[in-house]
Amino acid sequence: MIDTSLFEGVLQIRMSRYADFRQASWVCAYLVDGLLIDTGPAYTAEELTNFLKDKGVKVAVNTHFHEDHISANKYLQDAYNIEIFAHPVAVDKINKSAKLYPYQEEVWGYPVPSQVKPVGNRITTQHCFFEVISTPGHDLDHICLFEVNKGWLFTGDLYVTTRPVVCRPNDDMWRTLEDLRKLRALSPRVIFPAPTHIVKEPNKKLDELTAYLEELGNRVDDLYNKGMNAEQIRDEVLGEEGLIADATQQQFSSLNMVKSFLRKHKDHNGSRT
Ligand SMILES: [Zn+2]
Repeated sequence: MIDTSLFEGVLQIRMSRYADFRQASWVCAYLVDGLLIDTGPAYTAEELTNFLKDKGVKVAVNTHFHEDHISANKYLQDAYNIEIFAHPVAVDKINKSAKLYPYQEEVWGYPVPSQVKPVGNRITTQHCFFEVISTPGHDLDHICLFEVNKGWLFTGDLYVTTRPVVCRPNDDMWRTLEDLRKLRALSPRVIFPAPTHIVKEPNKKLDELTAYLEELGNRVDDLYNKGMNAEQIRDEVLGEEGLIADATQQQFSSLNMVKSFLRKHKDHNGSRT
C-alpha cells in the first residue's frame, strides 16, 4: 500500500505491506524536483513503480543498502531507465542477493539485486542542490541529503524518535551521536525521515535526541566501570526487552543498544558480557 502527502513541494511516499499502515512497517521515500530518495520495500515495488509513471522521476538515490530502502531499484531502472546512486560501500551490497531475517522477509521482502553508482559529494537537480553527508552511525554506508537553500534534511534511518530504546546490532551509537552533531550544525528547517512523520522542529528534536543519547551512553559507561555486564546494564537503564526484540529475532533490542555503547571498551566481549 502507498499513501502520500505533500509538504513544501516534497512528496512523502509512505509505503507498507499492510493496509492498516502499522507504524513499525512504514518506510517513506521522498520525491523532490525529480529526485527520488529511497525506493522502499519489495512488497510495494511494483505499486511504487506504477505510481511514479507520471511523476517526472529523473534520478534516484538510496540512503543505505537496507532492504526497505532499495527494493524498487530494479523495477524503476527497467521501467524508466533512471540512474540510481548510493554510498560506495552500498554499491557492492545492493548488487548482490540479500540475506534476511524472518521478520525482514515478512515485513519488507527480498530486493531484486540492482546495479547502482557511487554517489559523489552533491546531487544537483533542476532547482535544487543536495549535499551528500556521510552518517555512518546507522550503518557504514548511510548518507543523509541536505538541500542547502530550503534547509530540507533527508535523514534515512538516522532519526526515528527522540528517545530510542532499541537498535540493531550494526548501529553504532557513539557514531550516531557524531552524526547528529554534524546534522545539527547544518541547522535544518525540516527533517524528512524514512521511518516516521516529517519533523517541523528539527533543531529542538535533534537537541533532545543528542542529550538523551549522551546521558544514556554516559550511564552505560558508568555502570560498566562499576563492574556490571551488558544484560545488567540493560535492565538498569532500559528495563526488560519489549515485544519487538522477540518479534525481530533480537535484531531490534535494548541489549544491542547497550552493547553498542560498550563496543569502545576493549574487554567488552570478555567475561563480563
Ligand atoms: Zn536501515
